[in-house]
Amino acid sequence: MKTALITGISGQDGGYLAKLLLEKQYHVIGTVRSYGCRDLKNLKYLNINDNIIIEELDLSDIINIIRIFKKYQPDEIYNLAAQSSVSLSFEQPIGTFSFNTISVNNLLEAMRLFLPLAKLYQSSSSEMYGNVKNLPINIETPVSPLSPYAVSKMSAYFMCLNYRKAYGLFVCNGVLFNHESFLRSSNFFVKKIIRDALLIKNGKLTHLTVGNLNIKRDFGFAPKYVEAMWKMLQMDESGDYIVCSGKSVELSNIVKYIFRKLNLDRKFIKIDAKLFRPNEIEDIYGDNSRTKTILNWEYNYSFFDVLDILIEEEIQYFNKIQNSYK
Ligand code: NAP
Repeated sequence: MKTALITGISGQDGGYLAKLLLEKQYHVIGTVRSYGCRDLKNLKYLNINDNIIIEELDLSDIINIIRIFKKYQPDEIYNLAAQSSVSLSFEQPIGTFSFNTISVNNLLEAMRLFLPLAKLYQSSSSEMYGNVKNLPINIETPVSPLSPYAVSKMSAYFMCLNYRKAYGLFVCNGVLFNHESFLRSSNFFVKKIIRDALLIKNGKLTHLTVGNLNIKRDFGFAPKYVEAMWKMLQMDESGDYIVCSGKSVELSNIVKYIFRKLNLDRKFIKIDAKLFRPNEIEDIYGDNSRTKTILNWEYNYSFFDVLDILIEEEIQYFNKIQNSYK
């Protein structure tokens, strides 16, 4: 039985990855920043909370990481913990940059010293490419990050490359484009639109407030993206992989689609310029062909198929808990 350590277990990807690894008979250890404020509702929703050992781990403290490495000797480490919001990173640039880089540096250094035969997966982000001239993005595309979050993810990405080259550690970067699911936090675009539209539909909200809808993103389905993470660590050699759907969708079309599905009038949509970001990527999509071929990863969803799944799951949840839904 293999042992996997997942940082950021309470987040969207942490839940789906833990579920996948449990199905594959792994012994799963998940880490949270503190027992005091841990929120394991995603693991409860997936009905896997009793099958995972939860450990408190401060990733900014290397001694803590070494303690966990020595205790569990994980075969595979999946580093998902990060301040993951681009918008929030403009408000908290120092906290975002510090945590998203130091945590990765500490994991790499602890691995070099105490667990050199383990395999590490690092969640990198397409945001690090910024506005590129030649789409689709592939793993050779030069980076030009446009937010504190993107800068932090770029730094961590190159630190991983450095440890692979310098010390021969097995470290993979998954360069993930936006991916969504029922478990996405409601401060992220797609989940927010679905939730607010449902609230409007049921008379619990007067309107939807959104920022710039004229930008395009490559959106995918989170439960499929965690499969690619696992596949990376099953390879004989480590590498970096683009994980994306291969197509971008304009945000305005997502809003229109959700409103149409719920039979809602577009008069309920309000654009608020205060929600526009200081810097914005206009259009971004990637090329997943190399990842599909090397990892034998299958991905065939259009994002509108994914939206159908998400809307249906949200309605079911709403019907289940109606009065406490907010
Ligand atoms: P998420 O839902 O926001 O989860 C992030 C996780 O990181 C949570 O468990 C959170 O714990 C933890 N975390 C945040 N700050 C922390 C800190 N200071 N100390 C310890 N833990 C901390 O993100 P996700 O969607 O699952 O994404 C997983 C990873 O993929 C992240 O690294 C993200 O940047 C990256 N990524 C995501 C996307 C996407 O579209 N989802 C795209 C590209 C890259 P709390 O619950 O305690 O806050």
